[in-house]
Amino acid sequence: MSHRPLTTFDIGHDRYSAIIEPETAFWSLAPTADLHRVLLDPEYLGEISARERSLDEEMRLLRFGLLPSAVYFNPTERCNLNCTYCYLPEKMRRGGKHMTENQIFAAMELLLEYFGKTLPATTRPQVIFHGSEPMLNRRAVLAAIDRYSKEIAFGVQTNGTLLDAETIGRLIENQVSIGLSLDGPAATITDLTRHTHGGRSIHGRVISALEALRGYPNHSVISTVTTKNLAHLRELVDLLHGLEVPTCMLNPVRCTLPGARSIRPDDGAFASAYIAALERTYQLYRETGRKLIVANFANAILAVIAPTARRLMCDISPCGGGRCFFAVDANGGLFPCSEFIGLPEFQAGNLFDGGLESCFASDAFTSITTRTVEQIDGCRECAIRNYCGAPCPAEACALHETAAAKGAFCDFYREQFRFIFRLIADGLESAYLWDSWDSDAITTFDLAAKLPGSA
Ligand code: SF4
Ligand code: SF4
Repeated sequence: MSHRPLTTFDIGHDRYSAIIEPETAFWSLAPTADLHRVLLDPEYLGEISARERSLDEEMRLLRFGLLPSAVYFNPTERCNLNCTYCYLPEKMRRGGKHMTENQIFAAMELLLEYFGKTLPATTRPQVIFHGSEPMLNRRAVLAAIDRYSKEIAFGVQTNGTLLDAETIGRLIENQVSIGLSLDGPAATITDLTRHTHGGRSIHGRVISALEALRGYPNHSVISTVTTKNLAHLRELVDLLHGLEVPTCMLNPVRCTLPGARSIRPDDGAFASAYIAALERTYQLYRETGRKLIVANFANAILAVIAPTARRLMCDISPCGGGRCFFAVDANGGLFPCSEFIGLPEFQAGNLFDGGLESCFASDAFTSITTRTVEQIDGCRECAIRNYCGAPCPAEACALHETAAAKGAFCDFYREQFRFIFRLIADGLESAYLWDSWDSDAITTFDLAAKLPGSA
């Protein structure tokens, strides 16, 4: 018999409820009318109990056993935009420094040396050129990509305003993953949060870049959801699908600075608009046969159906910051995540001063890498704590002056997972996932194959 308490979770479905063992994130769906019988069924409890140890081990490895394999690398402090919710100090973005080409090369050598000792020889580390705006230092970034693409899987996260045809050609030639940012379906919406320091619109330039990227499978769009675009997410999804963008993210604004907090959407309104936008992606898929994957949502589905197949690392506890990846600023400063750049108390040494080996044991990193849902009031008893992960420590620090607190969107996360369980109950979850998501996944536990009536 299982020694762990099982929790029921109302998913708002007309026939099914979820039963969750929160420690292992094991779940099943049972007919609501039959819930009490299932919870007392000795065969059901026996099956869970028999696998408790292996599920525990799988969750332990995911939460505590991963090694860093990716770096968010800022090749410049400068940005040509002044977005309302940016987490980087404006002074840095307006007048900061670029890394030189030689400094970027030296950094890549140091990173390769480190990953050569920690990763299997067959695994290429990932380096994502990140912002501020990396394309302001385009010549040096492209030179590094040309030089190291065989050894490093590169990505660029850019505001998309500086992607001319030559730059796009060089990035595609090197199979670089390209992420752009766009918040609205029209300039009137995008302009409300994303614009130049002088307040000029950049919407058209991003659309032109997306037109140029049409057909390239390795590009995506990040949309930050705020009060300014909440009512327009369905049209945004229509625009991105029409541009044949393969993947987007509809991320809630990170409430780390006052500018971001001033446009924080209400959890309930966000959940409604988000679900409506997701349902629109499904409708478009049915009409055209082509998916627009909402990656943060797809990742949340994977958190439920295949926890170790997750690709993003915000909704694991501890989150991936300082554990699965780390960030390097334009001076070589080492931080657990880009969200902490600009906060000196979270810097753990410098890449160029041999700081890489020791940063993982620093207070700056361990304050994030040891933050678990079990430490957080309201999360430690939450049924979905090991799907949600209580993001984000940077947000919690900004809101509550401690990482051991909830971030901003608890009620939204609950609604998201209720929706996911409804999709699973209706057999629709695959329509929201990458076609190949399970190509190298294995089924470790399928209770439905054993117990009739459970899903
Ligand atoms: S939860 Fe926050 S700190 Fe952690 S990886 Fe995500 S953005 Fe970074
Ligand atoms: S943030 Fe909310 S939904 Fe997430 S684990 Fe904590 S209590 Fe649960």
